[in-house]
Amino acid sequence: MLQPRLQRTISQPVTVEGFGYWTGRDVRVEFRPAEAGEGIVFVRDDIGSDARVEARAEYRADVPRRTNLCFEGVEAAMVEHAMAALAGLQIDNCEVGIDQAEMPGCDGSSLTFVEALDSVETVDQNAEVAQLEITEIVRLSDGESWIEARPVVDGGYRIEFELDYPYDAVIGRQSALIEVTPERFRQEIAPCRTFILEREAEALVRQGLGSRVTPSDLLMFSDHGLVGNELRFKNECARHKALDLIGDLALTGCQIVGHIVAHRSSHKLNAALARELVTRFSTVAPLGATA
Ligand SMILES: [Zn+2]
Repeated sequence: MLQPRLQRTISQPVTVEGFGYWTGRDVRVEFRPAEAGEGIVFVRDDIGSDARVEARAEYRADVPRRTNLCFEGVEAAMVEHAMAALAGLQIDNCEVGIDQAEMPGCDGSSLTFVEALDSVETVDQNAEVAQLEITEIVRLSDGESWIEARPVVDGGYRIEFELDYPYDAVIGRQSALIEVTPERFRQEIAPCRTFILEREAEALVRQGLGSRVTPSDLLMFSDHGLVGNELRFKNECARHKALDLIGDLALTGCQIVGHIVAHRSSHKLNAALARELVTRFSTVAPLGATA
């Protein structure tokens, strides 16, 4: 195992404003410095400073297509793109204040969060980060979806995502592989946007959800191709799934050493792997688990 790096936080608060994709509600996010060992904690500023939910896999609510956290009635919704930004930039301790449950969708990627976090300094703290080294293969599956954690010999953290949309020829099959470092995350993963099929979006709008979202706010695919937008990468959809996975595995509260391969994995399966990895391989208390 490599020598663990020091934990890091940000030097001063920084804000992001936008609206939630699902609810359409305006939301203000304030990323704030946090003590070593605190981990990532969402704080509902609209309720009070005690209304907190730690970013841990056991607090994931069972909802489709996104990662919502809930602890004792305190909810933080669609946290995965901000979680990916924090994990990708190796910011271990941060309070994320929100004045609504749902995080802003921004452009559907982690770019807005990364730019905000990069606009302030990061600070090394006086404690080492908890490492979680995968020492044997772990595989979870759900129907045709599976996810596998494999050991590595070089101390790295790699994410590989295989996307397969057989019922949508435009997206089709694509894959993405990334060595998760802050530089590569910024350049190759953070700008990659979430995507939806036009017919799925129409079904959500009929349920009263997502009515404020336009095709310029994310990638929307019709039967004929991408609607009103341009791809940033040929395999942007697979890269976005890798982004989601990085965000979901940050719910371990640990720095992962291993290679994760996912095939059509969902947020639910990603979080199940996060829980399993902590149970099997965590040797020290994950961040946020000290209370
Ligand atoms: Zn996503």
